[in-house]
Amino acid sequence: MWILVPVAFAGKLLNVFRQQLSSMWWTLVPLFFWLKATFWLAGPHRRQQKQQGKESKDEKQEAKEDLPTTPTSVNYHFTRQCNYKCGFCFHTAKTSFVLPLEEAKRGLLLLKDAGMEKINFSGGEPFLHDRGEYLGKLVKFCKVELQLPSVSIVSNGSLIRERWFKNYGEYLDILAISCDSFDEQVNVLIGRGQGKKNHVENLQKLRKWCRDYRVAFKINSVINRFNVEEDMNEQIRALNPVRWKVFQCLIIEGENSGPDALREAERFVISDEEFEGFLDRHKEVSCLVPESNQKMKDSYLILDEYMRFLNCRNGRKDPSKSILDVGVEAAIKFSGFDERMFLKRGGKYVWSKADLKLDW
Ligand code: SF4
Repeated sequence: MWILVPVAFAGKLLNVFRQQLSSMWWTLVPLFFWLKATFWLAGPHRRQQKQQGKESKDEKQEAKEDLPTTPTSVNYHFTRQCNYKCGFCFHTAKTSFVLPLEEAKRGLLLLKDAGMEKINFSGGEPFLHDRGEYLGKLVKFCKVELQLPSVSIVSNGSLIRERWFKNYGEYLDILAISCDSFDEQVNVLIGRGQGKKNHVENLQKLRKWCRDYRVAFKINSVINRFNVEEDMNEQIRALNPVRWKVFQCLIIEGENSGPDALREAERFVISDEEFEGFLDRHKEVSCLVPESNQKMKDSYLILDEYMRFLNCRNGRKDPSKSILDVGVEAAIKFSGFDERMFLKRGGKYVWSKADLKLDW
């Protein structure tokens, strides 16, 4: 008898517990259906939102790609004529055409209106035409009339006179001189030799004039078969340029390679490893800016003597229509210019001498 009492009590407890569970279950059932319905409805909505987000991202990307390329930094090779005969030259004397000064100014104004901030005058040799007067007038026009933040020149330096600095130096931000070797024999082998004139001595004279007339001084070197083993540390430090651009020798079909080219640059070409070796030897030079073939490719906006953009995507220079005929926006679409690579290679830098804060 005394055993039956707790058993009956436990049975009662179990019964109560079962009733509670059953009433809880009936409370949970509608909650379960409500949750299921909510998520089932919300699922497609969320998927739709996600899809819309993706589409708007794609649209934004497309819109970005549709945006006209800004010609922030332009290289205007207004002449192809040169007094040197560098064996690897990749802008050769295929024509002797130079635009009339007023037409060139008109084109530069179009570029400024399209967003140009920096112009670099190059060639050929830009000081050859009209003894540098044509170039001087364009430099002055770009600084005074167009108020461009940066005006620069790339030259082999052999034809520059002090008078030019007196007349135009104040309007020029940067003068880049090409120098591939400090050994005169190597310069002769490359084709930069000029009879009795010493390219290296000339470079030192130009360095001094840049200091005297407050023009930032830069050096450009093309690393090739004949200078790849050279150690230039000492000479570059002594010249103390603001930038030392070091290019890997580049093959361009129709310019320095192929049946219709004026040069055969194949014997100058070096491998990527050899180029790396040169850079490694000069890694302590803080102003060194390396440019491998990969970096150079498509990261320059190049205008030729007719003011046509040159597209180098296919390893040769295919011209667009002239900006003077179709405007900048239409012509630049055919430039093959890769803005991302331009930024990646450091194409945008402190390029105005007012901002360089140089200790002249
Ligand atoms: S100095 Fe420049 S433009 Fe003249 S031949 Fe040499 S690489 Fe070509």
